[in-house]
Order: sequence, then structure tokens, then C-alpha cells
Amino acid sequence: MKKHVWTQVYKPYVGLHTFTILPIVLRPRSRGWIRLETADPYAQPLIEPNIFDSDQDLNVLVEGMKLALKVAKTPALRAYNAQPFQTTFPGCEGLELYSEPYLRCMARVYTITSWHPSGTCKMGFKTDPSAVVDPMGRVFGVRGLRVVDASVMPNVVSGNTNAPTIMLAEKMADHVKGRRLKPFVPPMTRAMIARLPYMPYEDWHFSLLY
Ligand SMILES: Cc1cc2nc3c(=O)[nH]c(=O)nc-3n(C[C@H](O)[C@H](O)[C@H](O)COP(=O)(O)OP(=O)(O)OC[C@H]3O[C@@H](n4cnc5c(N)ncnc54)[C@H](O)[C@@H]3O)c2cc1C
Repeated sequence: MKKHVWTQVYKPYVGLHTFTILPIVLRPRSRGWIRLETADPYAQPLIEPNIFDSDQDLNVLVEGMKLALKVAKTPALRAYNAQPFQTTFPGCEGLELYSEPYLRCMARVYTITSWHPSGTCKMGFKTDPSAVVDPMGRVFGVRGLRVVDASVMPNVVSGNTNAPTIMLAEKMADHVKGRRLKPFVPPMTRAMIARLPYMPYEDWHFSLLY
């Protein structure tokens, strides 16, 4: 966080009890890019996350912020005299506090990646022009090179990225070593498995958990 943001927004609340509700866009539509700046392999690459390239992402985040404000207004939290910050984010002065334009402005000036960037060289099939590595992590068109990290995720996972990264690294290590494990049997009935191709992705975890 930049110092002037902290001074303007947070400093007045130092010493008081506060809490944060942090809405997250788990399935962003915006796509960024990463490019080499020079041919020097030691030079830093250019990284453009392109956050909010898709307006849909901004809309989702603003809806999340509205929900957070609603939570703060529940009787349970009112009992503690909970109220939203009355300080204004730099760049959003002049907008009515917590109005739609203010929330959109706040999202634009105060959004972070939360340290989970991923998916810069997508795994996929050779027929997919946007794929960089095959399902074994081998880079298309480059012999003897694999990528085995969070960058190969074709879609960012909804949860944290560390365990899935370890999982895919273990799987790739098995490929390299030629080790084959027994197929994993998911905790689902045969009927559920039969329906899988037709089940919307969002329904999966509910079926597994409940
Ligand atoms: C502050 C922070 C908090 C996080 N908290 C969580 C959390 O609570 N839970 C969670 O699931 N995830 C969390 N993550 C995300 C998670 O750590 C990453 O998604 C995950 O580590 C990505 O793995 P990776 O192998 O792609 O990259 P990395 O873990 O970054 O591994 C890259 C490795 O490559 C090495 N390397 C880089 N350049 C070279 C080079 N030229 N030659 C040789 N080696 C090189 C680096 O030293 C490093 O060891 C957090 C990340 C951060 C930054």
C-alpha cells in the first residue's frame, strides 16, 4: 500500500477496533500478458495483469463490496456500532461515499492481486492456439523444456494456489520418472459420475461435500 493511501484512509483509525471484509473475484474474465523485454535471459520480463480489462470483473467486485456493506449493517454487527470508514480513498474524493461510482472508483484504486498470479503459459492441447505447454508440461515447439508451476493453470483455481501447484508438480514429476499411479476414484456415486459431463462446474463441489 502506498504511504499516502495509508495516511488518508487508515491512519485516522489507528488504535480503534476495525475489521475488513475483502471481496475477491475468483473467476476473473480479464486476461493479462507477460512478455520478454529484451533477449537477455536475466532481464526482468514485462508483466501486465490487465486487471478490470473486463467490465464484468469490476461489476462482480462492486457487488461483493455492496454485500460486505450489508453484512456490516446486520443487527449482529450494529450491536458493536460497526460502521464503514468515513475516510475517502485518494482519487475518489468528490464522489458520494459508498455510492456506486465511489465503489467502482475504490475498486480501481485499491485492488491487489493478493499474491496469487498464475496462468501465464496455459496447459492445453496442441490444437489450442492459446496453449503453451501440453498436459505433460512440455513446451510446444521447444525440445527438452517443461514448465511445472502455477503458470500452467489454464484457469486460476478458486482457492489458494500453493497446494494445487504442489499437486501438479507431483504429477509432472511422475510423468518425468515414468511412474503411473492407480486412477483416483472420486467420492461420488456411479450415477453422479455418469452425469458429470452435463453437470455445471459450479455444482461439483456441492455434490462432493453434501
Ligand atoms: C505473500 C504470499 C502469500 C501467499 N500465501 C499463500 C497461502 O496462504 N496459501 C496458498 O496456497 N498460496 C499462497 N501463496 C501463493 C503460493 O505461494 C504460490 O501460488 C505458489 O508458491 C506458486 O508456486 P510456483 O512454483 O509457481 O512459484 P514459486 O513458489 O515462486 O517458485 C519459483 C521458484 O523458482 C525459483 N527461481 C526463480 N528464478 C529462478 C532462476 N532463474 N533459476 C532458478 N530458480 C529460479 C525461485 O527461487 C522459487 O523457488 C502466497 C504467495 C505469496 C507471495
